[in-house]
Amino acid sequence: MFDTMILGGTVVNADGQRPADVGIRDGRVAAILAPGETAMARDFIDAGSKLLLPGLVDAHAHLREPGLTQKEDFVSGTHAAALGGVTTILDMPTDDPWTATAKQLSDKMESAAGRLNVDVGFQAVVSKNCKNLDDLLALSPVSLELFTADVPVEYRFDSLDQVTRMLRRLAEAATVIGVSPGDQSILDESGLHDTSGNISTFLASRTPLAEASGIARAVLAAAETGARVHVRQINSKLGVETWRRLQGMADVSVETTPQNLFFTSEDYKTGGARLKGSPPFRGRGDVAALRHAVSEGLITIMATDHAPHSPAEKSAPYGSFADIPGGMPGLQTLLSVILSLVADKVLGLADLVRICACNPAQRFGLGRSKGAIAVGWDADILIVDMRRSTAITDAEQVSRAAYTPFHGKQTVGLLTDVFLRGERIVSNGTLICPGRGLVVRRAP
Ligand SMILES: [Zn+2]
Repeated sequence: MFDTMILGGTVVNADGQRPADVGIRDGRVAAILAPGETAMARDFIDAGSKLLLPGLVDAHAHLREPGLTQKEDFVSGTHAAALGGVTTILDMPTDDPWTATAKQLSDKMESAAGRLNVDVGFQAVVSKNCKNLDDLLALSPVSLELFTADVPVEYRFDSLDQVTRMLRRLAEAATVIGVSPGDQSILDESGLHDTSGNISTFLASRTPLAEASGIARAVLAAAETGARVHVRQINSKLGVETWRRLQGMADVSVETTPQNLFFTSEDYKTGGARLKGSPPFRGRGDVAALRHAVSEGLITIMATDHAPHSPAEKSAPYGSFADIPGGMPGLQTLLSVILSLVADKVLGLADLVRICACNPAQRFGLGRSKGAIAVGWDADILIVDMRRSTAITDAEQVSRAAYTPFHGKQTVGLLTDVFLRGERIVSNGTLICPGRGLVVRRAP
C-alpha cells in the first residue's frame, strides 16, 4: 500500500527516460513500476503522459538571511524555488553576518526551521582567522566556501599560497570546498588605470584572465593538497579552455549559470542595473564556448547564483557601474530556461536532470536522497507538461527582487506540480502547501 501513486508519466533521470508509475511511501520513492502494473494507494494522481523529473538542486543561491531581508528571506526565496521546480537550495554564506562560525551556522539553521517552502542545505565560509573548523564541520554544511577576490579582506584568499594552505587544512575533511575564481591583483590594478566608473571599467576589473587565473590556482591547489574543490560560476571562453586543460589534474567540478548562456555585455545597454552581476557578462564568443562546454558535458553543474536585491537598491543612482549591487534572481526560472535549451537541442532532457539535479546532489553530499527518481530517494518530483508553453514575466516572480532577467522569454514546457518528500506543495503553478521544507545536511 502506497501513500500516493503517480500514474502514466514518463520518468526522466540522468541515465535516460521511460514510462513508469511511481509509488510513494513515507516521503520516499518506494517503487517504480511498469505502466499499468497493479498497485494499491491511498491517493492516485494521473500524470497524463507528462514528464516526471526529480526536483532540481540549485548549488548556488543567496537567500539573504540573516541581515539582508529587504532583498529576500527564507520564505520568499524558497517560494520562488518551489514555483520554479527547485526542491533543494544550497544557500551561500554571504549574508550579514557572513556564515563563518559554528554559532552563526547553527543560528541560521534554527531561524530557517519551519519557514522553508523547499529543502535548504547551508554553506559556510572559511575566513583567514578561523580557528574552529571542526565545530563548523560538525554541523555538516553542504560545503565550505573560499573566496579569492572581491570580498571583505578577512574572507579573501588572494594568493596561491593562501589558497593552498587553507585547502591543505581541509583536504582530509568530509566536505567539498567551493572556490570562487578571481584575481584580486587585476581588480586592484584596473582601478588605478581607469577611474571613469562606466561599464568598461567594471569589465576591465573582472576580466576573463582574472577568472582563468582563479581557476588555475584552484585546480593546482586541489592537485597539490588532495582537497575536493568545486569552482563557482565561470563564464568566459578563456576560463572554459583553462578548465578543459587542467580539470583532469584533481578532484574538481565546475558550474555556470543560465544567464551566462544568454546574455552578453552588449545587453547592459538595455538591461543596465537589472543585469549587473559578477562575473560580468562577456561576448558572443564566450556564450558560444559556454554553451558548447555545457553541451559536451565539460561543465557539469548548472546553478542559478540567485542573488536578489530590492527594486529600490537596483534603481537607486550610483556613482559608478561597479557600485550597483551585483546579482539577479534565478530560482523561479531555472527549469524554464534550461528547458528552452533542450528545445534548442543544446542538451537532452536527461542532461538537464544530470546538470540541474543529479550532479549537484552528488557533489554536495546529498546523492543518496536528492537528484534522482529512484527507490529510497526522497520523493521530490516535478510534473512537466511539454505540450504547453508560456512566457516568463516579471509580474509572476515572487522573489523580493520582483523581476527576472528573462522577462518576455517564451518557454517550452510548463511545470504544473511539485512534490517535496511525497507531499504535493505546488499544484497548477500555485504553492498550496507552504512551510514543508527542511534543513538538509551533507551525508557522512
Ligand atoms: Zn553567488
